[in-house]
Amino acid sequence: MQTKFGFTKMNVQEFDTWLKSVKVARTVVKIQEHHTYIPNYSNFTGSNHFELQKGMQNTHKYSNGWMDIGQHFSIFPDGSILTGRSLEYSPACIYNNNANSVCIENVGNFDSGGDSMTTAQRDAIIEVTALLCIKFNLLVDVNFIIYHHWFRLNDGFRNNGAGGNKSCPGTNFFGGNKVNHCQDNFLPLVTAKLQNIIQKQDDASILKYASVTATSLNVRVSHSANSEKADRDPVQYGAVLRVYEIKDDWYKISNSADHWVSSKFTRDVTRHFVKATTLNVRSGPGSSYPKVGQIYEGDQVFVEEVSNKWARITATNNWVSQNFLTDF
Ligand SMILES: [Zn+2]
Repeated sequence: MQTKFGFTKMNVQEFDTWLKSVKVARTVVKIQEHHTYIPNYSNFTGSNHFELQKGMQNTHKYSNGWMDIGQHFSIFPDGSILTGRSLEYSPACIYNNNANSVCIENVGNFDSGGDSMTTAQRDAIIEVTALLCIKFNLLVDVNFIIYHHWFRLNDGFRNNGAGGNKSCPGTNFFGGNKVNHCQDNFLPLVTAKLQNIIQKQDDASILKYASVTATSLNVRVSHSANSEKADRDPVQYGAVLRVYEIKDDWYKISNSADHWVSSKFTRDVTRHFVKATTLNVRSGPGSSYPKVGQIYEGDQVFVEEVSNKWARITATNNWVSQNFLTDF
């Protein structure tokens, strides 16, 4: 991280950490996507982020008469993110639609025939948008993530680009600036990234997985058989639990609450992903056993037992060849 002229420059990982730490009192319900048009790739030297950001601030303050630079964030061709206006202020980016918004200006000209977006910038735009959705609890759809083009220039009326609109964030921004382009091209990338981030956050705090071997197992508020039962249903035979903490013979199975089970009634299992397009599930550990189902590439399974390179993936008799699972 580097700071100059009051702006902070970050890569995406630094932005993630910074965004988690920053407190925002203002309620945010929209993320705006823009392109700067000018400056664009021809003005970027690879090291003049702060100067370009200062230039935009000067234009916004001294030519436009605004209180500060219009946008909260600028994303540069090398994937760097620069802070701009404080998140406690509405941006000055879409006429009549700035309240409760966060404004991202993507540096470049993304109209057809303009700049061809770098992979680094593309990845940063997707991830910053996903991180902002997580931060402000926004759904990934076209009511929460909006393009400047969808709002009429003279009065801010949302006409989805039917006439009297800017092309911003560019007629070639992720394949187009229309609502359907956003839905078809941009939002699926944001959704995939968001799921990936959430999955990773959860994964990082999981010590291991364990399958329940008792018919029914009580969940208690502490790591002792004398402690009270937690206000939740007992867990059932074959259920795969996430273990977040281990104390004596007890497992903490919630990331957010003090909910514990006795480890004596569980068996450790390991998580794997299917790497074959389709994988047959059989009733025993070998290809001669009858086929009882199929699972697919990317599916997650929890292996209870391995026998002759065959893995049992449930508490009952469902087996797959371990050759087609990751991490064996
Ligand atoms: Zn714009």
